[in-house]
Amino acid sequence: MSYEIIAGIDIGNSSTEIAIAKVGRSETKFLSQHLVPTTGVKGTVDNLKGVSECLKAASSKADIELLDINLIRINHAVPVIGDLTMDLISETVITESSMIGHNPDTPGGVGLGVGTTILIEELKQKLNDNTDYIVVIPDSYDYEIVAHVINKAFSRGVSITGAVVQKDDGTLIHNRLEKKIPIVDEVSMIEKVPIGMMAAVEVALPGHVIRMLSNPYGLSTVFDLSPEETKQIAPVAKSLVGNRSAVVIRTPQGEIVERQIEAGSITLIGETSHVNVAINDGAKQMMDSYKELGTLVDIRGETGTNAGGMLNGLVQDLADLTGQHMSDIYITDILAVDAVIPTSISGAMAGEVSMETGVALASMVKTEKVSINKVSEHLEKKLKVPVEVGGVEAEMAVTGALTTPGTENPIVILDMGGGSTDAATVDRRGKWRTAHLAGAGDMVTMLINSELALQDHELAEKIKKFPLGKILSLFHMQLEDGTIIFSETPYPPQTFGRVVIREERGLTPLPLKEPLEKIRSIRREAKRKVFVTNAKRSLEQVIPTGNIRHISFVVMLGGSALDFEIPQMISEELQKYGIVAGFANVRGTQGPRNAVATGLVLSSKVKEEAVDG
Ligand code: ADP
Ligand code: MG
Repeated sequence: MSYEIIAGIDIGNSSTEIAIAKVGRSETKFLSQHLVPTTGVKGTVDNLKGVSECLKAASSKADIELLDINLIRINHAVPVIGDLTMDLISETVITESSMIGHNPDTPGGVGLGVGTTILIEELKQKLNDNTDYIVVIPDSYDYEIVAHVINKAFSRGVSITGAVVQKDDGTLIHNRLEKKIPIVDEVSMIEKVPIGMMAAVEVALPGHVIRMLSNPYGLSTVFDLSPEETKQIAPVAKSLVGNRSAVVIRTPQGEIVERQIEAGSITLIGETSHVNVAINDGAKQMMDSYKELGTLVDIRGETGTNAGGMLNGLVQDLADLTGQHMSDIYITDILAVDAVIPTSISGAMAGEVSMETGVALASMVKTEKVSINKVSEHLEKKLKVPVEVGGVEAEMAVTGALTTPGTENPIVILDMGGGSTDAATVDRRGKWRTAHLAGAGDMVTMLINSELALQDHELAEKIKKFPLGKILSLFHMQLEDGTIIFSETPYPPQTFGRVVIREERGLTPLPLKEPLEKIRSIRREAKRKVFVTNAKRSLEQVIPTGNIRHISFVVMLGGSALDFEIPQMISEELQKYGIVAGFANVRGTQGPRNAVATGLVLSSKVKEEAVDG
C-alpha cells in the first residue's frame, strides 16, 4: 500500500474533533473533518460515544468505510474538570416590605399614590373616613364597572389615591375616571396583595422612569421609615430602578432578617508558602495574591462555605470518575472575576431580583495518573481499528496551527476552548512549555447569564455569539455601531421595539428592558474579563522569562477564537507588548478549528518518514 488512511481525534472538554487524511510517503491529502459535542468528562471512557459518532460522520463525508481507516490517533487527553461558581460578597434579605410583580410598561395615569389597600368590593360601601385608599381590582371586574364604582366613591367623598389591577385595563379605566389616579395593571398574582396595608403606587409618563419608589429615601418618605428600616428596604428600591411603574406594600407583621452569606475563603498553596484570601476581598485581591505566590501546587476551599463546597466537590467528582484517591488530585488553577449577581428578595411576590456584587470563580482539577490508555483500548475493541495515543495535546495543537499560511516556528499558540484557556510553545532546542488555565467560553456565558439576570443558559450563549440590533420600525433596524439599516420585508411584529440577537438566520427578540448599549457592554466586559486576562496569564507562564514582551507571534485556536470580537480584543491588548496575534487558519481552510486533530494526522507522517529515512 502506498498510503494509509489516518484519523486524528481531538477529545476536548466541549468538542470532539476529527480529521481524516490519506497519508502517503510524500503527500498528505485531507479527506474530511467533523465535530460533535464531547460526551462525558474529557479523557474518560464516556468519551467513546461521541468519538464513534464523530468517526462515522467524518468517514461518510470522506466517502470511506470505518474499516478503511488504518490507524486512529487520539490525543493524550488528561482528565480535567473545570467548574464555575458565583458567590455574593454579601446579601441582605428583607421580609418587611413586598413588591408586586407586574408588567411595568403599560400603566394608566401618572404620579404617586399612597394609601391603605382595599378590595373594590368593599369600596362600594365606603363613606369618607379620612383614609386614603389604594383599590385592588381582580380580573373578574370589567373596566366599565370599575370606573363606575370608583367614580361613585369619589362622589361620596372617599379619597382614592391609586389602583392595582389584575387585567391589562389601566388605560381603559383611567380614561373613564373623573379624578385621575396612577394605576398599575397586569398584576398577575393579585390575590397575594395584602389588604388593609400601607401601599404606594407610582407611575411615570411614557418614556420616563419612576423616581420615588426606586429611591431608598423616597421609600422612607412614603412609608415614614427610620434610618435602620431604610437600610433594610434599600434593595427593594434598587430592584425598581428603571421601571415605568411600581407598587410597594408595607407588611409590618413580617420579621426583619439580615443575613450575611458565607462566601468563605480559599487557601492558595505554593511550593514554599501559602496564602489565605477571603472571597469577600474581591476578585482582584485573589488574583494579586495568586500572582505573588508564583507556582501553584494546590488550592483548598474553606470547608462549610460555598468556596469550599465548590473546590472540594470538584476534587471529589474527579476522584469518583477516575477511581482515584482524592489526595492524587490537585486544583491546578483558579480565575476569579468580579460579577454582578441577581439575588432574590424575600419580600418579593413574583421573584423580583436585586443585583448584588459578587465574585465568579472558574477552577480546574487535574490528576497525574491518566486513563487515556483505557479509552484507546476500549475504542480499538469497539471499532476493530488500531488505535494509538498520538501525542500531547499542546504539541499537536502547535503542529496543526503551523499549517496556517504565513506562520513558522517559534510560535505561541493560545487555545481558547469552553472550559480552559491553554498556551503552548516549543523553543529552538525542542523544549516544550505549556499552560492550562481555568476559565474560557463557558465562563463568559455564565457571566452574561448572570449579569443580565436571564436564567437561560442557551440564550446567554446566543448573546455571546452574535451581534445585537434594535428594531425601530417594521422596516428599520439600528445596529450596534449606530447605523440604521432598511429591510425590504417587514420585521416580525414580535420584534418591534425590541433589542434582538442578529443570528445568521433570523432574529431572536430579547425579553429584556435594558438598552442595547448596556447589553452590549455587559457582553464585551464578560469577554474581556475572562479572555484578555487569561491570554496574558497563560502567555506569562509559557515564556521562560515571564515577560510576554519576549513573544513575537501568537496564533489563536479553539471554539472561542471563532468569536466575532474575542480575537480582536486579544490582538489589541497584545499589540501593546509588541506581539502580533491573529486566529489560525488551519490547513488554510479550517479557521481556528481542527488544529489538534490535524496535528495528530501530520505527526504520524513525520514519524513514518523518520523510520523510513
Ligand atoms: P474544547 O477544545 O475545550 O473542547 P472548543 O474549542 O470546542 O472547546 O470551544 C468551545 C467554546 O467555544 C464554547 O465556549 C463555545 O461557546 C465557544 N464557541 C463555539 N463557537 C463559537 C462562536 N461561533 N463564537 C463564539 N464562541 C464560540
Ligand atoms: Mg480543544
